[in-house]
Amino acid sequence: MRALLALASLLAIAAPAAAQPLVVIDPGHGGSDPGAVGCSIEEEDVVLDVSQRLQVLLERDGVRIAMTRDADTTVGLSARATFANSRGATGFVSIHSNSNGGTPATGTETFVYPGSNARTRALGQGVQSAMIAAWGLRDRGLKEGNFAVVRETTMPAALGELAFTNNCATDARYLSDPAQRQRMAEHLRTAILNWLGVSPMPTTGTLRGVVFEDQGVGTEDITVRIGGAGVRVTETGASATSAADGAWSFTVPPGEYTVEASHAGHVTASRRCAVVSGMTTWCSVGLLPESTPPPPDAGSVGEEDAGVIEEVDAGARDAATGGDAGPARDAGATGPGREMIDGGCSVGHGSGSSAWLAMVLAGLVIAMRRRRAPVALLATFAIVGCAREAAPTAHESDLRGIVDEENVAPSARIGARPVASFVTLGPRREWLVQDLVTPVLSPDGTRALLASPDHTALFVLELDGTSTVRELCGVGRCGWEPQWQDDGAAVAFRTEGQSGTAVPAEAVSLEDGRSLAVHVGERGVHAWTDEDDRAWLRIDGRVREIGPEGERVMMPTLTSDRRHVVMWGLTEGVLIHRVRDGAIVYAGPGGHPRVDPSGRWLVLERTEDDGHEITRSDLYVVDLADPSYAIAPLVLSDDRVERMPSLSRIGDDGAGTLAYVEEGALVVREVRLSR
Ligand SMILES: [Zn+2]
Repeated sequence: MRALLALASLLAIAAPAAAQPLVVIDPGHGGSDPGAVGCSIEEEDVVLDVSQRLQVLLERDGVRIAMTRDADTTVGLSARATFANSRGATGFVSIHSNSNGGTPATGTETFVYPGSNARTRALGQGVQSAMIAAWGLRDRGLKEGNFAVVRETTMPAALGELAFTNNCATDARYLSDPAQRQRMAEHLRTAILNWLGVSPMPTTGTLRGVVFEDQGVGTEDITVRIGGAGVRVTETGASATSAADGAWSFTVPPGEYTVEASHAGHVTASRRCAVVSGMTTWCSVGLLPESTPPPPDAGSVGEEDAGVIEEVDAGARDAATGGDAGPARDAGATGPGREMIDGGCSVGHGSGSSAWLAMVLAGLVIAMRRRRAPVALLATFAIVGCAREAAPTAHESDLRGIVDEENVAPSARIGARPVASFVTLGPRREWLVQDLVTPVLSPDGTRALLASPDHTALFVLELDGTSTVRELCGVGRCGWEPQWQDDGAAVAFRTEGQSGTAVPAEAVSLEDGRSLAVHVGERGVHAWTDEDDRAWLRIDGRVREIGPEGERVMMPTLTSDRRHVVMWGLTEGVLIHRVRDGAIVYAGPGGHPRVDPSGRWLVLERTEDDGHEITRSDLYVVDLADPSYAIAPLVLSDDRVERMPSLSRIGDDGAGTLAYVEEGALVVREVRLSR
């Protein structure tokens, strides 16, 4: 089963998806935080339901969706934002429901980060207008709010408050009604599609055919048409009368339907057919004359047809044998690429790629049940097949090795051991950095990299008397997770279009700003995540999956000593994969993990939030050289929120430099770690 999951991931990577927009939907709260509670409803449930309905609709439109949670799980605010950042999302929509103290308020409002640009405001206004159109509650307007998820996301982000959970007379009635939640999702879908500039897929398909007199060969011969026959769709109750040429049609939502035809002098018959959005499904029904005794052969096509999905599309048969019959002509008129035969009497999507992928996957499942060898062959085939539609990246081709990988499952789970503090901190030096985020200290601790809030620009700050700030790069997402060259002479960053965990493709010299050949880490050794947020490691010529089962992870980073991969799990916090034996070490809740250049010391933040804002944050340090992974507080304070720690290289004597962000300031302190 484990190997099968790996293959499914592999197929997902190979799928042609990169060019499509990615929207992160963020259902608020969850797990230990129910959010607003009132009128027998909990915010965490209502917003998850609306979000999942929205996901279904948008995915049908071809929009890639990633959910910050898809169950009743606890996910920190910082993790939600970082998740969207690491995936390079196009837009971020957080869904909440409101509450207030005192007399229940009413209405709908949307928040964007203060000072947001026009593109972000357009998303916010679209979300707000959609929610008003859906439920018609009081329009409280598009507002500015300093909420963590809209502040820490780098792409346009909006936070919608559907209605007031504690208003039982009006708002809560909408929140608790599944039909209203569907209506809300449909309006939000339209708003997001408009914002993306993506055309919606039709939400209905066409079911059509003719009623004909069965000549004993079913749809092989439909030339004798029956006009004036009653045609009924059992599931919807819709009915029609066939035209003089026997033709009929219905517009229906996607799904499977039973079509029943009846006519005086003929035996009533029915047939089941599947309808897909935006497609036409042919479902002609043949009737045997009443006077005709049933054909002697029990396999008579006409009878067998009824209520059975045929292996070959009815429309195709109709078209093939109908001569100038209506169906053949009409089938052509639906236009190329919109109608495809994929078995049964259902009709596949335009390009057919998803159906094709599903068939390959089905093939893999079958092969898996038999032997190992065919799986390898099929997997290779799948990659090659998909690659015709999307050129494989280096990572995808590396994944060919997975099938031969025996050591996939982590062998053990270890919890980091809390110990008394072993940290001595020096005095504080501070720089006001305003909105600059995610400091990364140089190996010698004399400089810090800081990114612009949207990660499009990267700056270097000299931590000396000059406090010089220089812009190092300003293209694409160059501020996202930059990496120092080992000697501190250059910084590597990713270029436009590179995934957030790809090997950086460019580097810039600190001395003169020249572009350099990239020289970070070791060639052929790398950790990254795929489209399903599974983590992979390529080392010693092999590729292995390294995240714990069921967890989605961000930003896996191999330590310089190649002993560990540190990563950030959406629900489980900071995780450490031990390369030697595949064990998973849990450092506990927390995020923004970073390892010092020696590879021994891991620092992380441990935040608490109220579902909207981070209320507390402290810093911790883990000794990766300790077999029990000792963890201790690094900076603790009740009244200050310390975040995003970074270490210079910690020497053998335990001495080095620590940097972190504290309410708009970069704090730098000498540190000694004594173990
Ligand atoms: Zn909320």
